[in-house]
Amino acid sequence: MSVLVLGGAGYIGSHAVYQLIDQGEKVVIVDNLETGHRDALHPKAAFYEGDIRNGDFLNSIFEKESIDAVIHFAANSLVGESMENPLKYFDNNVYGTQVLLQAMIEHNVKKIVFSSTAATYGEPESVPILETMPTIPTSTYGETKLTMEKLMKWTEQAHGIKYVSLRYFNVAGARETAEIGEDHQPETHLVPIILQTALGQRSHITIFGDDYNTPDGTCIRDYVHVEDLISAHLLALKYLRNGGKSNVFNLGSNKGFSVKEMIDEAKLVTGRDIPAKIGARRAGDPSILIASSEKAKQVLGWNPTQTSVTKIIKDAWNWHSTHPKGYRKEV
Ligand code: UDP
Repeated sequence: MSVLVLGGAGYIGSHAVYQLIDQGEKVVIVDNLETGHRDALHPKAAFYEGDIRNGDFLNSIFEKESIDAVIHFAANSLVGESMENPLKYFDNNVYGTQVLLQAMIEHNVKKIVFSSTAATYGEPESVPILETMPTIPTSTYGETKLTMEKLMKWTEQAHGIKYVSLRYFNVAGARETAEIGEDHQPETHLVPIILQTALGQRSHITIFGDDYNTPDGTCIRDYVHVEDLISAHLLALKYLRNGGKSNVFNLGSNKGFSVKEMIDEAKLVTGRDIPAKIGARRAGDPSILIASSEKAKQVLGWNPTQTSVTKIIKDAWNWHSTHPKGYRKEV
């Protein structure tokens, strides 16, 4: 049996494919290559280029391949873009998941692990954030991910598809060997932008606000290494295969770092200057997001091992410094 990885050519999906294959799993990838990269595909995985909103396409894959579980990363994930183009997010994220669930029902595939987000919580009442806290998204992106969770909840009741929803905090880092890494066009995430500045590809980084109610005034986030994040997906798959009930888990490090602290840490790791300027706040940014990941540790047996931001930045730097143009070919 194979695991179907939707979005397996993207940053997080490609790390999942590599770990699944390391663990001896057979993998089938579906990706429309809109934000994913052909060079991020694992050579041992079967690959089908196409869009999850295309039901005929998805059905043909479930017919050709022998699939027992799905891991779903195929979604748009930028808060800012989702505010400017909300219908794009409802179409790809929500409608895409609807088509997927329909195909799973038709082909009797009963297990799905799904990438959700801390953006489902909105501005938290307190930190660390527990899975039981209210979900009041402040962005279209968060709303679509929460809606995807609800699609799964109601579909489970009618059709018995079990799901694990993993609510990610701030994912960064790369596979230690730097075969694959993070490459978004355009890049909006903090760690890659810091490292592009260290490489001299940007004159400076703009810190989005230093007047937040935090010790140094900049936003605090909980950074989790992509490899630790993916190990939770493999455990979630095992949990479902062992008959685990549908569930939701936070994935973070339970520690917060400010934007300024991340820049300072990156200066130490890279040994480079990283000029920073203070800019305006970015719309929709909560001041502090820190996860409680105790539930994932207790129920899934998750044991993140790469929890220091030094290690996260070091592995991200290893990728960025060896692939300064990301997956684009050198000229
Ligand atoms: N950030 C920043 N400058 C940048 C990019 C990000 O100050 O060029 C801040 C952003 O406001 C947030 C944190 O870094 O407080 C992490 O942002 P990112 O976009 O990486 O992740 P998010 O928290 O939106 O998921």
